Amino acid sequence: MSDKKQKIWKSVDGNTAAAHVAYAFSDVAAIYPITPSSPMGEVVDAWAASGRKNIFGQRVRVAEMQSEGGAAGAVHGSLSAGAFTSTFTASQGLLLMIPNMYKIAGELMPAVFHVSARAVAGQALSIFGDHQDVMAARATGFAMLASGSVQEVMDLALVAHLATIRASVPFVHFFDGFRTSHEIQKVEMIDYDDIPSLVDWEGIRRHRERALNPEKPHLRGTAQNPDIYFQVNEAANPFYLAVPRIVEEEMERVSALTGRSYHLFDYVGVPDAERVIVMMGSGAEAAEEAVHYLNTHGERVGLIKVRLFRPFSVGHFLASLPDTVKRIAVLDRTKENGSFGEPLYLDVSAAFQDRHREVLVVGGRYGLGSKDFTPTMAKAVFDNLAQEHPKNHFTVGIEDDVTHTSLPLGEPIDATPEGLVQCKFWGLGGDGTVGANKDAIKIIGDNTDMYVQGYFAYDSKKSGGVTVSHLRFGKNPIQSTYLINRADYIACHHPSYVDKYDLLEGIKEGGTFVLNAPWTLEEMEEKLPNSLKRTIAEKHLHFYTIDAVSIAEEIGLGSRINMIMQTVFFKLSGVIPVDDAIRYLKEAIEKTYGKKGRDVVEMNWRAVDEAIDKIVEVDYPESWASLPPDVPEEKDEPEFVKNVMRPMLAMKGDALPVSAFTPGGIFPTGTTKYEKRGVAINVPEWIPENCIQCNQCAMVCPHAAIRPVLATEEEVKHAPEGFEVRKATGKGAEDLFFRIQVYPEDCVGCGNCADICPAKEKALIMRPLATQKERQIPLQRYVETLPTRTGGFDRFTVKGSQFQKPLLEFSGACAGCGETPYMKLVTQLFGDRMIIANATGCSSIWGGSAPSIPFTVNDEGHGPAWANSLFEDNAEYGFGMVLATTQRREKLAQLVQEALKRNDLPQELRDALSGWLAHRNDAEKSKE
Ligand code: SF4
Ligand code: SF4
Repeated sequence: MSDKKQKIWKSVDGNTAAAHVAYAFSDVAAIYPITPSSPMGEVVDAWAASGRKNIFGQRVRVAEMQSEGGAAGAVHGSLSAGAFTSTFTASQGLLLMIPNMYKIAGELMPAVFHVSARAVAGQALSIFGDHQDVMAARATGFAMLASGSVQEVMDLALVAHLATIRASVPFVHFFDGFRTSHEIQKVEMIDYDDIPSLVDWEGIRRHRERALNPEKPHLRGTAQNPDIYFQVNEAANPFYLAVPRIVEEEMERVSALTGRSYHLFDYVGVPDAERVIVMMGSGAEAAEEAVHYLNTHGERVGLIKVRLFRPFSVGHFLASLPDTVKRIAVLDRTKENGSFGEPLYLDVSAAFQDRHREVLVVGGRYGLGSKDFTPTMAKAVFDNLAQEHPKNHFTVGIEDDVTHTSLPLGEPIDATPEGLVQCKFWGLGGDGTVGANKDAIKIIGDNTDMYVQGYFAYDSKKSGGVTVSHLRFGKNPIQSTYLINRADYIACHHPSYVDKYDLLEGIKEGGTFVLNAPWTLEEMEEKLPNSLKRTIAEKHLHFYTIDAVSIAEEIGLGSRINMIMQTVFFKLSGVIPVDDAIRYLKEAIEKTYGKKGRDVVEMNWRAVDEAIDKIVEVDYPESWASLPPDVPEEKDEPEFVKNVMRPMLAMKGDALPVSAFTPGGIFPTGTTKYEKRGVAINVPEWIPENCIQCNQCAMVCPHAAIRPVLATEEEVKHAPEGFEVRKATGKGAEDLFFRIQVYPEDCVGCGNCADICPAKEKALIMRPLATQKERQIPLQRYVETLPTRTGGFDRFTVKGSQFQKPLLEFSGACAGCGETPYMKLVTQLFGDRMIIANATGCSSIWGGSAPSIPFTVNDEGHGPAWANSLFEDNAEYGFGMVLATTQRREKLAQLVQEALKRNDLPQELRDALSGWLAHRNDAEKSKE
């Protein structure tokens, strides 16, 4: 930027950066939300509603359509009528746009689709980032421009919009889902005032002139016969041939504006490198760190960052390579089963073939579904290139012990820049940790001259799952596009994590560890695992605790501990003088909660003051350093749970080898019962004498964590201590005993059961988890050994239905979820013979997130068989299941009829077969 002009720096995420530029250039935006692109459409919509003007002096006209296919159709129509039009999408959403993308490109229309690139649902749905979607769209005729960081998103979005106006070729501008779309970085904003002077206004006029217009009508979208179709397609060639030059020129102009230089292919590394990696997207940032690290350690390596992937300019590519290069590894963040190689690898290989240049080219895959890509992995790729016979078609970042594609990783390298401070925060989905860290990184970014980066890793629980916030800040630009593996500061916001996760993995010597827990040092001796205590002492950590939950409850903030923990971070990290930090925090509170009323603002302000006063440093004994290893509890669990689920739950799933999984993405059901998350703060306690045995509590529980039990006298007699019961009421159950059993570690503490309880004096009272756990767990385990007893109650009543075993239990749905109780009820009524076609959405996440599957089986081993196809085809998918089941049942009936014609059939079998044939459409009788 010109020296005279004040630079505008802001801490924003990649989606906001793309939307900022797209808004400027759009008359119209036709949108449809899909993770992780949704925030782009949302902010554009919000800006339009707030009256923000584009470069044409108008508010953008935003239309949310019924699907991505509809959005692409609307984009096509809007372009045809002369408006500059944008859209935002990802994954299958982009695939649904493909038919219209061919049309838009075929008709040579200027447009930009901003894509937060994401995996495409195949053997599983993944909402995370890779390039499968954009690669599936690479044949549409769209030009494709890749950005690898939030700043690049801002800058190259500008290049894409400027270039499409000149080139009359539409662009996909893509960046990695989550890693870039959701990463917060401090970036220099493009000022809308600077844009008009860059725009090709003649191109704008040309597009408007080409619009459908009855005053000078033309026709497009004809049907053509074999005589001309081929030639008209080839007529577009000059437009595509011009794209690389146009993009190059626009990059130069954007570089002149911003001071950041971009080329179609950017080379980094030593000028005489022999080994070079070629890749695009955010992984190139991590690879660049590795290149600098390796070159400062005596190696001669380089990296080509591909910016313009389509059209692929062979000339520009080869010109960007040092002449000394002998070996190249091309890294693709995609997988094309059955292909000879992935797309970028094929292009690069063909480029050398085209120019008869002899360079060894190998290709590999990395980072599918947001698998972390680190400098250590980039080094492994360079090490492979140094082998006598480098492995081709390799993978990096996993252990493939089946087809042996993976590269071995050497010792981890630390390629982060000097002086970088790295902080990790373990939170619980919905506890405000992520929101607080987003605020924190913005406070640091906006109030200091430091560069900042915030990345937020979630599991797929809808709420109540683990979140890990990764915050970095320092004096140098941050290219570390991977999770923090060497932390200066780690905070654990939930005490139940201490023995579930390796919280302190990678913490630096003398680092800081903050634990939110109500425990004294004596209690910590018992509650903290030896491994944690040992790391604290061995690494001489500064260890602090705060009882944030009690403080929050006392102030009236319930379980919202975010403000307290954020204040603690500012106090202990020293990144900003603490008084300034408190002022910024209080200003942020005013801004965030101002609309909710004065009392909410003041409660949060109090949280800040209390946190400063109540954080305490733990004076732990040095003897912790010599504690013996923890002895793992022996559990009788299925192999899958032991070998796959447990490592995944402990966040060690990255280390699982390929052989651990069933090809095709098949997973066992009934696994949530092994999870025992223990995330509730309060759980219900049953007061037997108040209970009227209505079972409404069980009916409304979203997690099947409270259940009515009918036990015999004998069973009551042999029960563990504390097994309180009441004489069962209701005809047919007179000899039985009734009990409400709470599953304290599966309860999420929503309180629905206690709220609904209609007893005159409530028969359920919410109590702290710690007061219930030890007492209830043995009782719950005993209940699990008892047979399901229905007491003869009609299963089609509220009371009777709840004596049926729920075949949906302990899902990762949000606390208080409104749909899971109904789904659970359906499984209680029909679950033993259900096949479920589950549309993509909330229910496919709580219902089918590997490895924790809430659909389970009854005492006979029968239960729902579940599958998910897509977001848009579920009715058809389910219909297909009906067709197949009907056809197969008819074949069975045919076979039974043929069998019954035989004379040698034993009478018992004959009766069974005739009975089934007669009642085959009656669910109950056909089972007999
Ligand atoms: S508090 Fe919520 S999750 Fe826990 S048992 Fe009651 S209804 Fe179920
Ligand atoms: S809702 Fe209350 S009264 Fe009814 S069964 Fe549950 S605890 Fe008993």
